[in-house]
Amino acid sequence: MSTLREAIKEKQRIVVKIGSSSLQHAQTGDLDYIRLEKLVRELCDIRNQGKDVILVTSGAIACGRKAVGIREITGENKEQQMAVKQACAAIGQARLMMTYQKIFAEYNQVAAQILMTKNTIADDLNRFNAHNTFSQLLQMGVIPIVNENDTVATYEIEIGDNDTLSAIVAALVDADLLILLSDIDGLYTDDPHRNPDAKFIPQVDGLTEELLAMGKDSTGSDVGTGGMNTKLQAARIATGSGVDMVIANSGDIGVLHRILDGKEEGTLFVAHTDDGFDLAQFVNQLHRQ
Ligand code: GLU
Repeated sequence: MSTLREAIKEKQRIVVKIGSSSLQHAQTGDLDYIRLEKLVRELCDIRNQGKDVILVTSGAIACGRKAVGIREITGENKEQQMAVKQACAAIGQARLMMTYQKIFAEYNQVAAQILMTKNTIADDLNRFNAHNTFSQLLQMGVIPIVNENDTVATYEIEIGDNDTLSAIVAALVDADLLILLSDIDGLYTDDPHRNPDAKFIPQVDGLTEELLAMGKDSTGSDVGTGGMNTKLQAARIATGSGVDMVIANSGDIGVLHRILDGKEEGTLFVAHTDDGFDLAQFVNQLHRQ
């Protein structure tokens, strides 16, 4: 076992992100209750070890679409499409939370909801308040469940994807580890769905330009918004803020405790605190390029 993996055993504050494609059955778009249940059980167990746990979960829009039978977000123009998307998010976020609360309650675990936009971080007072709320919840032993506030977040104020959001949350709360649960084992030298010679990369010590160029916009799913690009962006935010990050496959949720046991699972991005990295400034320039 490498010393870096061994050190993961000592991590105290863990942020876990799971995407829509990992929470739904691909055939129907309905929630995968077995996976959700396993996820919640794992998180409660990590909490029972005395660690702080935060869950960043997608699935609001997907759940809302499903509830009102909308297969595709359509509309006469962009505004109308946006309104449909936001209505679906409003419906779905409540449903998603209802399901989470029900399962967390089975393990006697209190969970809370935090919805964020870009302004939560870019605005000094909002960021201060959000930081205090997270700290207070963690102190109370509560598991915060985070998503973007998709009911109000339009292009100008959205973070845009939950890979980035989870890294921002990890930086905001001074987490020790961010785990991105995805439909892929980790980082490869190329897209393994298309290139059988693509090689798995178990550890990334520094984010080089070459590595960043490897990120391709493909998750193999049509529900989440994150591809490898957004995962590498998340790695930049997390590692630059001093947070180690692991990308691992959500196919077996048990991977969570194996990672925390120091096992060689997924790709580990090693933290290297960058004193020049300013979270608020970074968030402020998102989508401005
Ligand atoms: N916030 C969106 C949702 O809950 C998903 C964003 C993402 O998948 O990255 O539906």
